[in-house]
Amino acid sequence: MKLLSDTLDRVKPSPTIAVTNKAQELKAAGHDVIGLGAGEPDFDTPQHIKDAAVVAIAMGKTKYTAVDGIKELKEAVCAKFKRDNKLSYEPNQVSVSSGGKQILYNALMATLNEGDEVVIPAPYWVSYPDMVLLAGGTPVIAQASVQTNYKLTADQLEAAITPNTKWFIFNSPSNPTGAGYTWDELKELTDVLMRHPHVWVMSDDMYEFLAYDGFKFCTPAEVEPRLYDRTLTTNGVSKAYAMTGWRIGYAAGPVELIAAMRKVQSQSTSNPCTISQWAAVEALNGQHDFIADNNEIFVRRRNLVVDMLNAAEGISCPVPEGAFYVYPSISGVIGKTSAGGTKIENDEIFANALLEETGVAVVFGAAFGLSPNFRVSYATSDEALKEACARIQTFCASMT
Ligand code: PLP
Repeated sequence: MKLLSDTLDRVKPSPTIAVTNKAQELKAAGHDVIGLGAGEPDFDTPQHIKDAAVVAIAMGKTKYTAVDGIKELKEAVCAKFKRDNKLSYEPNQVSVSSGGKQILYNALMATLNEGDEVVIPAPYWVSYPDMVLLAGGTPVIAQASVQTNYKLTADQLEAAITPNTKWFIFNSPSNPTGAGYTWDELKELTDVLMRHPHVWVMSDDMYEFLAYDGFKFCTPAEVEPRLYDRTLTTNGVSKAYAMTGWRIGYAAGPVELIAAMRKVQSQSTSNPCTISQWAAVEALNGQHDFIADNNEIFVRRRNLVVDMLNAAEGISCPVPEGAFYVYPSISGVIGKTSAGGTKIENDEIFANALLEETGVAVVFGAAFGLSPNFRVSYATSDEALKEACARIQTFCASMT
């Protein structure tokens, strides 16, 4: 009897984590490496949030809690949805997990049966298709294109829906492209969903607060209130609050779905870290001024990276509305040969050659379902970004 399950054969490890690990290995071996792979802010968690965690420890709030979150955090989540998204939820419609990833995973585990399809727009966050496969469902990829700045159109969504579609996963601003849907663009998608009452909506709003140039974030249940009864709105503190390591994500939706997700969590991880939950209460209820300060830095870095990449031969980079990623196309270098002698046949070869020849680590586009591209995370210092983009320019200019 073989040791490993058949389910695991269907999934691959996260390519973003693989790139980060490879960059760290090269660095440890003494190479001059600039990592643009990791999807986490380089800012520290704000002091008032850390203080709340220290107080929780001092007060002995270090034991098990209710499986899917303490009352105080669920109330803070309800207040957040009301304040920021005009969505009304009661605490029994809220679930808290160990990160946004676990929230999504619980929801898929709780709902997918064999043959159920999940529509995922590409480019997508690397984990969506593999989580669907792990949960026994079938990912259906709906390709967006660079012409619409990587945003899915109503026709593309319509074409992907079948009688077997259970979920549509929506993510704006997006990882990996940073693209954000305006109210009107999202309304076109929710109009399609209104014509298909069997389809549920999983909205991953993880980058809600990381939006620039006056972009106004919106979420499906807000844009189309008639979708409220079949929408799971998910979010978390990881990105906007620089709390990736604290592992707190949350969601709100119909009571039956939330209860099913609680059941999954009760037989897997139990409650998310108690101390982190108290820190998240402070994150959601406390002052948010630092987000605007951080966003000023992010927007400056985004502009720097977009300008420098567009100045590189063969690269074309749209200006995204949010998150901390850009997703340039490299169609102009496909077929060329690098100075180190590598024929650039696809974006994976491009990313490997870039790392080996220049020490710049990026994630290749095929990992996100749209090629030929690569993802840059600009959540790192201006100096590192300038140096990395200069190396990318030289790398492209020296191709023949
Ligand atoms: N959703 C998106 C789009 C993400 O990019 C990420 C993290 O990279 C997550 C969810 C998961 O966040 P967390 O670290 O809270 O699990």
